[in-house]
Amino acid sequence: MIPKNHPRYKSLVLRDKIMKAYKEGYLSETGMIAHGRGETFDYLFGEKTTEPSKIAIKVTVAKLFLAKNPVISINGNVTALVIDEIIQLANLIPAKIEINLFYRTKKRVDIIKSIVDKKGYKNVLGTNEDDSLYVNGIESPRAAASKNGIYSSDLVLVPLEDGDRTEILVDSGKEVIAIDLNPLSRTSKKANITIVDNIIRAIPLMIKTAENFKNYSKEELKDIIKGFSNENNLKESLKCIDLNNI
Ligand code: ATP
Repeated sequence: MIPKNHPRYKSLVLRDKIMKAYKEGYLSETGMIAHGRGETFDYLFGEKTTEPSKIAIKVTVAKLFLAKNPVISINGNVTALVIDEIIQLANLIPAKIEINLFYRTKKRVDIIKSIVDKKGYKNVLGTNEDDSLYVNGIESPRAAASKNGIYSSDLVLVPLEDGDRTEILVDSGKEVIAIDLNPLSRTSKKANITIVDNIIRAIPLMIKTAENFKNYSKEELKDIIKGFSNENNLKESLKCIDLNNI
């Protein structure tokens, strides 16, 4: 039991969730390392959502509403930390959910599918029974995607993606939106939009934003997107790392 008065309580609760997911067999060793890298950047941002991230979140939600076939990609870390919120967001937009694992094993996919099923969401894609095709014909596991999901999507939301896959998805003409605490990662730089924030804050804020935007017209949504530059937004995010404030 983590004592509630521990100064790092929230962070330790997240670590605990990540560790449990590893022990349950659906999160890989590297998923734990990725979480550690994320923690480091979260420290540097003062563990709060920055102004540039709030802008990226608004633009993302507007794009999600405007997309024809939006898909939210999930992996072990996302399942361990925010699966309830992902399902809520997917239902609100509506968007599809697809399992996409860097270290894909049948067992990990089956466990994640059963977790999502038990939450009452029955149509998760990217399962072992699903039809998979190669994006852009690139015959690599990094390019494999569900036929009715990411493969045929126009917009993919990828919390915690790796650089290679992000590049493949962007090159195939899809709009790729990453959530990544590291503004310097290849994923952050390659994606069309990067939300530099912890998924545990970013997804709930996306839900709130989606609730606000749900009755907006297409024109109003397009106005929100206007003038957004990921390159500039990443530069602004980096400026939020102020070591004097920590
Ligand atoms: P890239 O190939 O894009 O350069 P990478 O090799 O640096 O990525 P990966 O291990 O593939 O990193 O992905 C982990 C990324 O996810 C890291 O950049 C890390 O900061 C980020 N991350 C980890 N946990 C979270 C979280 N809870 N919320 C948001 N981002 C996170």
